[in-house]
Formats: sequence, structure tokens, C-alpha cells
Amino acid sequence: MKIIDLSQPLTNDTPHYPGDNPFKLHEAQFKDITISSMSTSMHVGTHLDLPRHMLKDNRTVKDIPLMAFIGKARVIDVRNPYQNGLFDDVLENDIILIRTDYSKDFSKPGYYDNFPVLKDHWVDTLLSKKIKLLGLDTPSPDKAPYPLHKKLFNQDIFIIENLTNLDQLPLNKPFMFYGVPLNVAAEGSLIRAFAILDKIT
Ligand SMILES: [Zn+2]
Repeated sequence: MKIIDLSQPLTNDTPHYPGDNPFKLHEAQFKDITISSMSTSMHVGTHLDLPRHMLKDNRTVKDIPLMAFIGKARVIDVRNPYQNGLFDDVLENDIILIRTDYSKDFSKPGYYDNFPVLKDHWVDTLLSKKIKLLGLDTPSPDKAPYPLHKKLFNQDIFIIENLTNLDQLPLNKPFMFYGVPLNVAAEGSLIRAFAILDKIT
């Protein structure tokens, strides 16, 4: 079994969306016991967005069964945006990970300014194919006023942002994806995302 970690590390240096609350970790000593505390936006690093992030929706992460975040996944490589048939192999209930390799800029200044956005008709195609979940190796599918976030949320498709290492995943065959959030009463959550590749060495 080969496991590919698709999560960015969370440290006091992890970048955050401008204006959002940063990830802050504090390690305290109580005699010989070490206890860390953290304060963070749920939208730092590799994380999940639920519809409540932008729409009126009562559900928080704790209300969503784990199955929503686990399943058969495919990578769609959009680094050449002019290629045809990008989504031809996508099947209903697939988890789709859009590969741009922009994650390599995660620690660079401007990461939250210069990211590539999805094309509107890509999102329409994915919605018509009834995918299960959409993951990105960028901070967001779109920029303010976030029409693609809302289009996805209106069809109850959840979004995972700031994935990394998508270049280590196969392009031509599906694999198991896990994007596991905290069991938390919030509109989003930090996640540990990973893929399990069977019989691939
Ligand atoms: Zn988010």
C-alpha cells in the first residue's frame, strides 16, 4: 500500500488568506507535560469548505457523514487548458482533484493573489456529471464575488482547497482519496488529505 500525503503542513509560518485569522500554535509546559493549543481560521492550509461558508445552510461539518469525504478519485491535469476532452473519463460520484501544480508556490508571497481559477464551463461539466467532491491544489476555484464556489455549493458539492502533491498521483486511473475533517460544528475544517495507491510502486 502506498500513501501519498496531499496536505500542506500547519505551522506558525503557514500562509493564510489576506484578512483571515492565521494558524497560531502555542506550546506550553506544565511541569513535565507539554500541551499545545491552537487558534486558527478553518480556511488555513488544506481544508474543506461546506455550503454554509457562503450560503444559508444549517449543516456544519459534524452533520455530514464521513463518506462524503472519502471515495474513488481522479486527477484532472489542467496545466494545458486548451486540451480537449479533459473530463471525458469522469463518472458520477467521482471525487475530482484538479491539478495545476500551483501548490509549489504555497510558501511564496503572492500565493493568494496570483492563483489560477477554474473555467466556468469546467464547473458546469463537473456538475452535469454529478461528481461527489471537488479538490484543488490552489486556494480557491474563483475570486470575489466567488460565483463558482456558489454554483458548486448550490448543487451541494463541497470543496477542498490547498491540496498538494497532486503530481504524485496517477493521471490515467482512479485511486482512493481521503479528505478527513474534524467532527466540528463549523462551516469548514482543516483536513488531513491523502490518497492510497494500490499496486503502484
Ligand atoms: Zn475555504
